[in-house]
Amino acid sequence: SLPLAQADPEIAAAIDHEVRRQHEGLEMIASENFVSEAVLEAAGSVFTNKYAEGYPGRRYYGGCEFADVVENLARDRAKQLFGAEHANVQPHSGSQANAAAYMAVLQPGDTILGLDLAHGGHLTHGHKLNFSGKLYKVASYTVRKDTEQIDYDELESIAQRENPKVIVGGGSAYPRIFDFARMREIADKVGALLIVDMAHFAGLVAGGAHPSPVPHAHITTTTTHKTLRGPRAGLILSGQSFAAAIDKSVFPGQQGGPLVHIIAAKAAAFREALQPDFKIYAKQIVANAKALAETLQAEGLRIISGGTDTHLMLVDVFEKGILGSEAEAALGAAGITVNKNAIPYDVNPPLKPSGIRIGTPALTTRGMKEAEMRIIGKWIVEALNERSNPQALKRIQGQVLELAERFPLYGWLREPAAV
Ligand code: PLP
Repeated sequence: SLPLAQADPEIAAAIDHEVRRQHEGLEMIASENFVSEAVLEAAGSVFTNKYAEGYPGRRYYGGCEFADVVENLARDRAKQLFGAEHANVQPHSGSQANAAAYMAVLQPGDTILGLDLAHGGHLTHGHKLNFSGKLYKVASYTVRKDTEQIDYDELESIAQRENPKVIVGGGSAYPRIFDFARMREIADKVGALLIVDMAHFAGLVAGGAHPSPVPHAHITTTTTHKTLRGPRAGLILSGQSFAAAIDKSVFPGQQGGPLVHIIAAKAAAFREALQPDFKIYAKQIVANAKALAETLQAEGLRIISGGTDTHLMLVDVFEKGILGSEAEAALGAAGITVNKNAIPYDVNPPLKPSGIRIGTPALTTRGMKEAEMRIIGKWIVEALNERSNPQALKRIQGQVLELAERFPLYGWLREPAAV
């Protein structure tokens, strides 16, 4: 058979262009990262050919002996990494991990209490258009208007009023550390279970740069592709008492055959996360986020909640008369990729919100440190100020490219093929 470049030149060219895009720009989307070549190799392996419905030793297909090796290694490493009694490594995504976790402990119509999407939560924490909002009754908590942080006394009174079966912690755009101990206390008080979705900060937890929810939550879910730096997928951790319900809920509840190639890539990523240098990486992500937030603040931008404890920050660009969508476009033209994002109590609509979300995991993976963050912070401010000046944005993009070239991505980077 032919290599992709010959078999399908259009797709091969798109991949080549994407490699170059990832290499030449500054990737600052808080939920993105760059996997190692080892993880990439596992994800592109022949396990993509294999059906392995069921679990190791209890499959519905023959020929699963090596799939079992892979899944057992992935489970053991995940348990070791996070100090959990049970790990299910089969969810195809973070959303499916959450769907399975809910299904393991809830009936349709039961109430879940999660952080409002507009205040930093995630779609799967009860948004009305998401399965979570359609299957379950939803109550939400928010951040305080003055501190832009969660008020746990208020969360407690909402929990007492709404009587949820599950309280969900974690989110996609909350820059502060959740108080897991307090959330468990509240859950216990109202007879709810605590599920923490640590998708965003799982890599920080693995690297010891962020408190772990695992000892506090009944069930912990995560994606594996954000700070954790594995392939795009999900993972569910729990104590032994939820193990059977979760496994049944993932398969046959939510999925058929697991993506064994992706489980292999997860296993490889977990092994990397168990190495001592992952701790250095995790610590550097947070140091970089702090350095960047401080630079932006010093340049006069308002950071939601006054700063960050994690890998991400939310910037209120509307305070400077700029919409998040305009900021995203201007930064994009300068080679800096971020996403527009609602800020708490946003007066603007979701597609033209008041903020942008910026994260440091991907650039930290490339080896950048505080010094680079300070330079990038200044470029961000410059690009925002010069948003209507294509020449200025182009000039910044040139500087971005120079910086990016100093922190090469993959060794096999090729020239893009002509389409
Ligand atoms: N949970 C949180 C907190 C997330 O931020 C995300 C993705 O952004 C998800 C779940 C969903 O993950 P996926 O995109 O893999 O479905």
